[in-house]
Amino acid sequence: MTRPDNHLSKIILITFLLTGLVSFQACLQTAQKPVQRPDYAIVIHGGAGVIEKSSMTPAMDSAYRSTLSLALSKGAAILESGGTSVDAVLAAITLMEDSPLFNAGRGAVYNEAGFIAHDASLMEGDKRQAAAVGAVTNIKNPILAAYKIMKDGRHVFMVGEGAEKFAAEAGLEVVDPAYFFVQRQWDKYEKTRQTTLEKEFPIDSKHGTVGAVALDRHGNLAAGTSTGGMHYKRVGRLGDSPVIGAGTWAENGSCAVSATGHGEFFIRNVVAYDIAARMKYAHQSLDEAAEEVVMKKLAALEAGGGIIAVDSAGNIALTFNTPGMFRGYKIAGKPAFTGLYADEH
Ligand code: ASP
Repeated sequence: MTRPDNHLSKIILITFLLTGLVSFQACLQTAQKPVQRPDYAIVIHGGAGVIEKSSMTPAMDSAYRSTLSLALSKGAAILESGGTSVDAVLAAITLMEDSPLFNAGRGAVYNEAGFIAHDASLMEGDKRQAAAVGAVTNIKNPILAAYKIMKDGRHVFMVGEGAEKFAAEAGLEVVDPAYFFVQRQWDKYEKTRQTTLEKEFPIDSKHGTVGAVALDRHGNLAAGTSTGGMHYKRVGRLGDSPVIGAGTWAENGSCAVSATGHGEFFIRNVVAYDIAARMKYAHQSLDEAAEEVVMKKLAALEAGGGIIAVDSAGNIALTFNTPGMFRGYKIAGKPAFTGLYADEH
């Protein structure tokens, strides 16, 4: 005769074995179905804001699209041939800095005193090296100055004359500030100067900052952002774009982010890092984190703008709370996308 307690221990043992088998099978399924990371992915933006079909001529529409496509294909070609995410980000951003269409490099906005001061930052997600320049006035490609500072490794953030001297000594192209002039931005400056009362800060409805984020074949993330800042800003004002964690962030294991929008809010809300932190600590997906930060937190503060991001698994996000954002992406093996208005997917 079986003793009752003996019977009980048999039941416990069988339950234990069955539970083990079920979880072993679960592990097996996960192991058999690895999450497919694309070989590479790159996402770019050329600023968010009131970008609407009604205010865009067909010529402007196609100029933006072709420049975005060109920037994407430059970055994607580097990733396709096994290059690094940092090089892809630099290639896409320098092309947009050289274009007069965006508020970065050539074509940037004027500050209150009538000159252009650029900000830029760069970060790579492997070792989390980062660098930034602020308020530089004669470096042709400010994003390359951030790159040189990052490679040098001694400092992270350099501004003004010191940054310009460093860039020149590092062999970067220095230009006469007249190189950055475009009539459109000068007219906007003149109009504001003539109509704005002292101490009033006119909020521009269009942010033309540029940025890129990428995931390369080696699994490394990178992000970069470059801008002339806010139209008619005070001399010496820095926005979020050169602030690591606010306008730019990259960290393998979570995500790479580049932001555009009303910088004061993006700094106060540490936007780029908040998205990464939500993924790391709250286990939100990239989409959830971006939605929470851009569509809820920033929108509640009436802070216009958006972000682009890519995570370590190759998921991407292009999230903005404005009528439009100049944007594009290319994921390995899939067709490239460029869009301007909110209803394009
Ligand atoms: N975020 C930039 C700044 O505040 C502006 C922009 O995105 O256009 O300087």
